[in-house]
Amino acid sequence: MSILNVDLHCHSVVSDGTLTPEELAARAAANGVELWALTDHDEIGGQHRAAAAARAQGMKYLTGTEISVTFAGETVHIVGLGFDPDDEGMRRGLEQTRGGRGARALEIAAGLAAVGIPGAYEGALKYVGNPALISRTHFARYLVEAGTCKDTAEVFRRFLTEGKPGYVPHRWATLKDAVRWIREAGGLAVIAHPARYKFTANEEYALFMEFKTHGGSAVEVVTGSHTAAEYVKYADTAREFGLAASRGSDFHSPGESHTDLGQLPYLPGELTPVWELLADRIQ
Ligand code: AMP
Ligand code: MN
Ligand code: MN
Ligand code: MN
Repeated sequence: MSILNVDLHCHSVVSDGTLTPEELAARAAANGVELWALTDHDEIGGQHRAAAAARAQGMKYLTGTEISVTFAGETVHIVGLGFDPDDEGMRRGLEQTRGGRGARALEIAAGLAAVGIPGAYEGALKYVGNPALISRTHFARYLVEAGTCKDTAEVFRRFLTEGKPGYVPHRWATLKDAVRWIREAGGLAVIAHPARYKFTANEEYALFMEFKTHGGSAVEVVTGSHTAAEYVKYADTAREFGLAASRGSDFHSPGESHTDLGQLPYLPGELTPVWELLADRIQ
């Protein structure tokens, strides 16, 4: 069992979190985190700030991001860790991945307007910290403010998921490209929160097989998105596919996230922690 308090998954205002990189670093340190990574969606604009803030708080740091990928018609998230934050190929790849978000947001707003919720684009923009990264999360925050729903979970359930009026199908990066960008920048790729995807057993097997083929290294086993039974299931999957394991809260916001920074069980034994493979990338 690895007893280092490691949190390698969370979000700042650079994507869809509500805290700055500095506020997150302070909160992580206060919660006892010893090794931290900020993993904003499709963005590495907060990496230098996060590394400096980690240093100021006495924590070790690994660079991070969470790339949106389309696989078998579903959105899958691939976390990248320990890459060079100034790598040009990574920067271009993420810029391309972010590219469709503006037009998608206008379509989301049109879908909401059609069911009697006007002004959602302008409303969501009030919550956006980075104009290049408007996310469904920002719409969810606005619909709570507008009194349409009691919390963001209800907004996703009623309006922002497949088949609902504010859902817009979108094509993100390919699995192959996302893993390649991370590897070519010197980092390792991790399948984020695998239990969240609505895959059949065959599709999930294909995801893990293709991820391995492309050079993927690890899977999140202990995450704020998994139940205790899912820790056990994906520990088995990690062993079956010869993958290392990661641990991360996926913290977004004090008011919204159930799992706070660093407040998770340790990785189950007999797994290789992904950070051990990244020892030379730790700052
Ligand atoms: P996007 O990248 O714009 O599609 O937004 C995806 C983000 O929405 C995720 O990273 C989560 O932060 C958030 N999200 C997705 N599903 C839910 C849900 N059911 N409840 C709350 N937040 C969610
Ligand atoms: Mn998010
Ligand atoms: Mn995710
Ligand atoms: Mn996340």
